[in-house]
Amino acid sequence: MTREKLELVEVSPRDGLQNEPDIVSTENKLALIDAIVAAGFKRLEAASFVNPKKVPQMADGDAVFEAIRKREDYRNGEVTFIALALNLRGVERALAAGAKEINYVFCASDGFSIRNNGAPVEETFRIWPTVAAVARDAGARLSATVSTAFGCPFDGEVAVERVAAVAEMCAHQEIFELAIADTIGVAAPSDVRERLRAVKAVVPPHIQLRAHFHNTRNTALANAVAAVEEGVRVLDGSLAGIGGCPFAPGAAGNVPTEDLLYMFNRMGFDTGVDLDRAVAAAKFIGGVLGRVTPGMVSRAPKWPSAAQ
Ligand code: MG
Repeated sequence: MTREKLELVEVSPRDGLQNEPDIVSTENKLALIDAIVAAGFKRLEAASFVNPKKVPQMADGDAVFEAIRKREDYRNGEVTFIALALNLRGVERALAAGAKEINYVFCASDGFSIRNNGAPVEETFRIWPTVAAVARDAGARLSATVSTAFGCPFDGEVAVERVAAVAEMCAHQEIFELAIADTIGVAAPSDVRERLRAVKAVVPPHIQLRAHFHNTRNTALANAVAAVEEGVRVLDGSLAGIGGCPFAPGAAGNVPTEDLLYMFNRMGFDTGVDLDRAVAAAKFIGGVLGRVTPGMVSRAPKWPSAAQ
């Protein structure tokens, strides 16, 4: 029986590490990226190109991408290294560093947009046609994320109509994928279904959907299942459950990738990722950070056990 494909995008080198109090060395970031690639992930967020004064953890994005570019096995391989950007300068830096895929982030709420992107939502879209043209001219593919799609740490509840309107504005430019993000981990599965249906109603079907969950309130795995039941086949995860957002107070960890992987393996999906190697990568980054990390599967006994 052919198993249905499900793509897991590993975001620990970006979303995971950007909210850690300690700055992880470029060398350890590259070792993490190696472990991620060895586990079989085909897409990963390698770095963001944002203001290094505001997010010092990502100040070495250029060095990370330069190291990736120099690696022949990566250059010729099938792995896509995503660069995240919030403005035109970030996109230009990412392209100069050799990024071939840009994830550009918008917000659904003004309160978060002002702090994260430096302007209210509508204003951030003024540059969108230029961003799309610059990425296209450089031969990079472009995706968009709608952050705070389920709630905002500053504005509170975000209306479904608002999320759909922002998603529609994202789709005015040539993007291959649209992600909706629960930046502060407030969603329940019913929210996921409602918002994905609203987004699907306004975004052309050739744009694939991706979902990004945080486990701040322990709902992320349930939300991931709801997203997949709504037809999403691309999910973000962060190994060991590390991560958050520097501008979202209390935004604890992303959904742990190894927990997603274990669950969707048992549900019969084919992710192409090796669970043992993913657990090894989760343990590696937990060791670098020197703390117990939230992921559960990497701390549980192997199942099925080796004796079986
Ligand atoms: Mg996030």
